[in-house]
Amino acid sequence: MTILLALNWKMNKTPTEARSWAQELGEKYAQVEGVELAVMAPALDLSALSANLPAGVAFGGQDVSEHESGAYTGEVSAAMLKDAGAGYVVVGHSERREYHAETDAQVAAKARQAQKNGLIPIVCVGEKLEVREKSEHVPFTLAQLAGSLEGVGTDVVIAYEPVWAIGTGKTATADDAEELAAAIRNALKQQYGEKAAGIRVLYGGSVKPDNIAEICGKPNVNGALVGGASLKVPDVLGMQDAL
Ligand code: 13P
Repeated sequence: MTILLALNWKMNKTPTEARSWAQELGEKYAQVEGVELAVMAPALDLSALSANLPAGVAFGGQDVSEHESGAYTGEVSAAMLKDAGAGYVVVGHSERREYHAETDAQVAAKARQAQKNGLIPIVCVGEKLEVREKSEHVPFTLAQLAGSLEGVGTDVVIAYEPVWAIGTGKTATADDAEELAAAIRNALKQQYGEKAAGIRVLYGGSVKPDNIAEICGKPNVNGALVGGASLKVPDVLGMQDAL
């Protein structure tokens, strides 16, 4: 299965900065066999990415409306992302769940909406520190996953991102990542049967060039969702080279 290196810029980079970043990547990038790169950017940056990313590098949004179109001021639809050239969209990131009170049902609706419009949703799940401290991280994450995949088809990517490891420099160990990735894969098998084998399960949380190889070397981890280390092209190339 192709490894997916998905870069979550979060709320960083103006369109001008996105263009420079994409051009810099274009100067230095060489495709690595078996690794797919995808830039998950603010919606306003997508046209700069579409015009400037090197061939073979995918891009997408960080959120999408659960509605098709209409009176939803401020929202971006899946059709708009698709028309801008997006291939993917992140849904249910912990920052959206936390600061915008997104529920599992909404996350599932967003993922369904993405799929309906030909986008691959990257569905994020993962526990907060207090859940981990009570050793409830596996059942918590699997319950979140089940709710977030209600009615969602197999053209999906799952990202396990323990909230306590995001932007903190505290990376889960490769074994922690594998524990959840294996549990998630098992749950996917129960939901989708044989077809689950094609679904990529990513790890996210303080991934960088010096830890990505060990994490992605685990049997059930098929890539990474990277925040901070996605902002500078040399770090991205460093991660790609390490894979
Ligand atoms: P960091 O890589 O900055 O910890 O962010 C992880 C993340 O939230 C990616 O979606």
